[in-house]
Amino acid sequence: MPDRTRSEALFERACAVIPGGVNSPVRSFRSVGGHPYFVTHGEGAYVWDADGNRLLDFVQSYGASILGHAHPSVVRAVAEAAGRGTTFGAPTEGEVLLAEAICARVEGCQQVRLVSSGTEATMSAIRVARGYTGRSRIVKFAGCYHGHSDGLLAGGGSGVATLGLPDSAGVPAGAVAETVVAPYNLIPELDDQVACVIVEAVAANMGLVPPDAGFLEGLRSACDAVGALLIFDEVITGFRLSEGGASAWSGVRPDLWCFGKVIGGGLPVGAFGGRSDVLAVLAPGGPVYQAGTLSGNPLATAAGLTVLETLDTASYAALSGRVAGFAGQLQSLLTAALGKAEQVDGAGRPVEARVPVVGPLFGLFFVPAGSGQVRDYDGAEASATTGLYSRFFRAMLDRGVALAPGPYEVAFPSMAHGDAELADTLDVASEAIVDALAH
Ligand SMILES: *Cc1c(COP(=O)(O)O)cnc(C)c1O
Repeated sequence: MPDRTRSEALFERACAVIPGGVNSPVRSFRSVGGHPYFVTHGEGAYVWDADGNRLLDFVQSYGASILGHAHPSVVRAVAEAAGRGTTFGAPTEGEVLLAEAICARVEGCQQVRLVSSGTEATMSAIRVARGYTGRSRIVKFAGCYHGHSDGLLAGGGSGVATLGLPDSAGVPAGAVAETVVAPYNLIPELDDQVACVIVEAVAANMGLVPPDAGFLEGLRSACDAVGALLIFDEVITGFRLSEGGASAWSGVRPDLWCFGKVIGGGLPVGAFGGRSDVLAVLAPGGPVYQAGTLSGNPLATAAGLTVLETLDTASYAALSGRVAGFAGQLQSLLTAALGKAEQVDGAGRPVEARVPVVGPLFGLFFVPAGSGQVRDYDGAEASATTGLYSRFFRAMLDRGVALAPGPYEVAFPSMAHGDAELADTLDVASEAIVDALAH
């Protein structure tokens, strides 16, 4: 067992002054057991904890980092920007450059407004959709996470699902009264009260659940039929699956996009965008209010722009190719170990592993033998309740590989995860699964 003395001491101090010891519940180890490691620094694919242990990091700030930690170009861009002043409350060229870079890469996205988090992006996009259509109702999907604004905290994935809070205390019933939650991968019936349908085009907050063939196309036509707007929450998939994100990947064009994570290069940024005629409802030109003191912050735009300019079609293809091969091997070795240990689920059925991959993202589910890929939140939940993810997670962490501390998260290999890192991960996984099944 690695030494964790300093992390433990920091966590104890944190718990005294920070609720639960963490500033975002997904960072707590509640769902996997134990306490979080505290990070001192990172480089490329690795982070070091407060006790000096090196961890091969598949968390990568839940997808905010795609080049790997402390990429020299990003560090330089941020340092240079900081030297010029960190925030002004007046427009800067960096905002124009980042907006241009986003619109140039995402076909059909004509304008974007920058905000400081994914939560703000989705919250504001919904407000735009309601303002544009003059309707109140919104449709979201069970297991899709769209940040923590009141109206979207229903049937969430990620931390919400892990904590078993499908709705959060403190959210008045009225705030979600106009939010309809539908099962993922089923096209809901819409009517002319619906302002918008918001969806993770590839769901990545209930593990990794790709859309079935025809699902996104079906949403597009269902929205068109009733005059509702289609919103792709691409906070994870944007500039992650490919340069054009999930809309390029799927060929389906939404009316509004939400971005975050990758576009900030590790600093706080979000963006929402779409057709100019839709965004014309925003203040100052239109009646929909939206604002932010630090929106389009110079450090964040410098970091984000550097990331987008560093990536190209070839880098995405190379990473996706590496991960696809790796995921297949991981699935086979886990399934073989589960079979050898004669592992069964609560209903006595033999268990197999599923390692879904979309672009460079991969997930991990434990499912009854013979079942197909997980397609919705019920499937993800059934996998999580086997408890196998938590045991595997701890066995991996003890051996220096950091997966996300929860069964509803996905893994975020970065551009710095090369063949050597992925091969090491497979070696560690073959030991860790045996250990996990023995306990
Ligand atoms: C992370 C995430 C959000 C929220 O972004 P924050 O920056 O954490 O507020 C919204 N939607 C999706 C799909 C996400 O993964």
